[in-house]
Amino acid sequence: MTGARLQTAENLNRLGTESAFEVLARAEALKAEGHEVINLGIGQPDFSTPDHIVEAAVKALRNGHHGYTPAPGILPLREAVAADIARLHGVEVDPGNIVCVPGGKVTMFFAIMMFGEPGAQIMYPNPGFPIYESAINYSGAKAVPIPLLEDKNFSFDAAEVLSLITPATRLLIINTPANPTGGAVPRAEMDKLAKGLENHPHVAILSDEIYGQMTYDGHEHVSMLSYEHLRDRLIMLDGWSKTYAMTGWRLGYALWPEGLVDAAIRLAINCHSCVNAGTQFAGIAALEGPQDSVHEMVQAFDERRHMIVELLNKIAGFSCRTPTGAFYAFPNISGTGQSAREVQDMLLADAHVATVAGTSFGHLGEDYVRFSYANSLENIEVALQRVAAIYN
Ligand code: PLP
Repeated sequence: MTGARLQTAENLNRLGTESAFEVLARAEALKAEGHEVINLGIGQPDFSTPDHIVEAAVKALRNGHHGYTPAPGILPLREAVAADIARLHGVEVDPGNIVCVPGGKVTMFFAIMMFGEPGAQIMYPNPGFPIYESAINYSGAKAVPIPLLEDKNFSFDAAEVLSLITPATRLLIINTPANPTGGAVPRAEMDKLAKGLENHPHVAILSDEIYGQMTYDGHEHVSMLSYEHLRDRLIMLDGWSKTYAMTGWRLGYALWPEGLVDAAIRLAINCHSCVNAGTQFAGIAALEGPQDSVHEMVQAFDERRHMIVELLNKIAGFSCRTPTGAFYAFPNISGTGQSAREVQDMLLADAHVATVAGTSFGHLGEDYVRFSYANSLENIEVALQRVAAIYN
């Protein structure tokens, strides 16, 4: 039997990908050939998961936690999440509305599958995390971009977002602080959006707050949870991957509104049953243990942020705004005369510096390249010297 005879579902052709993983694979291949590649491509902290978190998982495994758990996660984990939401956002939530899943991505996939079908519209940030657009297209819904533009500091204009809502709009995806731009939506704009959404009660909101604890220069993270009148249609996505340097553990959560939580649990049962048990214990230790490592990591990112922006602005043809959140710089590279993809490919091939073309995050990412500064100051300095050697 050959592959050509297999008849796959039509929507499979519309499923996209996350190019950062392709760049990672090419960077690894170059490394295997003996090149010293500096990876500023992948979006994950270069720190190790703190010891007390690792130990909690080891202990759980030694204590025999090897079986299935309830689909939304063990109760102590969901209680720890509820306590953390109260600590961070000052909002009391019911652990029964929390569904823990293998990574932040799973919540976005579930939310998009719940609302997406032909005829429906889903709004998403562009440039933005590539899985939003990919999953919306896969669902058959129309993907309606919310432009995040450099001259608005990669935030949005609430009036413009509201003007894009139609009777077919079912879900609005917001991500602040944002990947890939490092932009964060200021409170005044979020207030306007939240107020305007009162006139559109048919629109659910997926608020991706996975970088919520990574803001700089005193910028506050504005959680969608601050708006009480939206809570019955708000899906708040967060997780452990970035905050606790736990990308490989695969652990995320969402707070679901009453009307959707059962559907989320049903999707979990159909899809993955539960998060692996040991990881759930690690998740409790992360939330209930000391938070020093989080603060230290954010402080380190802040220092690197200053350095990378300064160095990027010294490169001919590049200009870079100072990001206010997450751990990405998103310089405008239009002055090089090259496309984003050409810059990405040239930096990897000639400078052995991995980055990700802005177009990997949507068509509005043309003219930009994402540099992750989740790497050491030394590596950032050497990487930018190599980039400068090409352009200056
Ligand atoms: N949301 C955003 C905006 C992200 O940038 C990422 C990862 O890069 C995720 C969600 C997914 O996180 P996880 O690795 O926990 O699935």
